[in-house]
Amino acid sequence: MNKEKGFETRVIHEGYDSSYHHDSLAPPLYQTSTFTFENAKQGENRFAGEEEGFIYSRLGNPTVAMLEKRMVSLEGGEAALAFGSGMAAVSAVLFSLTKANDHILCSQGVYGCTFGLLQLMNEKYNIDHSFSAMDSEEELLNKIEPHTRCIYVETPINPTMQLIDLEMVVSVAKKKGIPVVVDNTFCSPYLQRPLELGCDIVIHSATKYIGGHGDVIAGIIVGKEDVIATIKMTTQKDIGGIISPFDAWLLLRGLKTLPVRMDRHCESAEKIAELLKNHPSVEKVIYPGHSNHPQYWIMKKQMKKPGGMISFTIKGTKEDSQKVMDELNLIKIAVSLGDAETLIQHPATMTHAVVPAEFRKKMGIEETLLRLSVGLESVDDIWSDLNQALSKISVGTATENV
Ligand SMILES: *Cc1c(COP(=O)(O)O)cnc(C)c1O
Repeated sequence: MNKEKGFETRVIHEGYDSSYHHDSLAPPLYQTSTFTFENAKQGENRFAGEEEGFIYSRLGNPTVAMLEKRMVSLEGGEAALAFGSGMAAVSAVLFSLTKANDHILCSQGVYGCTFGLLQLMNEKYNIDHSFSAMDSEEELLNKIEPHTRCIYVETPINPTMQLIDLEMVVSVAKKKGIPVVVDNTFCSPYLQRPLELGCDIVIHSATKYIGGHGDVIAGIIVGKEDVIATIKMTTQKDIGGIISPFDAWLLLRGLKTLPVRMDRHCESAEKIAELLKNHPSVEKVIYPGHSNHPQYWIMKKQMKKPGGMISFTIKGTKEDSQKVMDELNLIKIAVSLGDAETLIQHPATMTHAVVPAEFRKKMGIEETLLRLSVGLESVDDIWSDLNQALSKISVGTATENV
């Protein structure tokens, strides 16, 4: 299926041809570790790459291949690889692009475990990194070093919801010949497609919006044929962080409703963000859909919609923000995001607890910051739960009842 078909069609049909699978409507689950050869010669030919066909599920599996093909189409790339977690994907990419004494330039904020991985790469393999606001060409040029081998970007940045202008980053990186890697987890390909803007590799924690139902941990990367082939034959095959066929099957199912789910996530988040802004217990709401968001113009430029994630600080202390969480009934306290259930977490003590306090402060992760992943429940129910919880802290008055 080619790109002329709409996104909403490709999430359902791309990568699967039922005529090869007994006309099964749903893609079959090839839950197998290995594949048998008709004879020794066929085995030899497959290993030599002289004959197409599967060998062993760490090297490829039909159900996983369907998922990868679908993701290639959705992100507008040439090839994709699925992994057993988002972090398996991140590490396979970063270890593939770097060797000892190289340098990675990273956006000001990154997912907590990506931050941890960068520390580990530095301590064990002397692969250095630094952080940049990436808010202008000059800033970026200043931070690029002679040994920079990768520019690693999250946008929106988790959990501070700052945005980075990908076109600007690409224009600088191209001049320097440095690949740009984007963690697109918060957007999914429905809202943002970095490869179409010239970026080189897109990474997803498919655990989040791609799966969408909170029942699988997985990662996916998409990019050009040659770079993906290298990762497949090195840091994927030999380190081995592959996805299980069953998890790939769940993701194929989840993807079918991605646009429908994203539309609802975004619609509800816009409403909740507006209501939060006016709640007396709330100090500040950070949502890319607000026209006073400092990078609202970037949202307009590179995102289809502002997304389903909201960060906000409350008036009060760290304990007050924890009390708000404890007072919630419908909304669940949990890390992760992009699920049908609305989830709330406290980045300073949860997802970003590994980040040193001083650096957290620099990133803008305050002790009263809460991150909300707006789910698919009735938006009235989500708001009334939030509203009653926020009104229980002393600074908040209960004047804002719906
Ligand atoms: C969750 C997440 C990851 C890590 O993915 P896992 O599937 O948990 O390994 C990476 N980046 C972002 C932005 C995430 O939200």
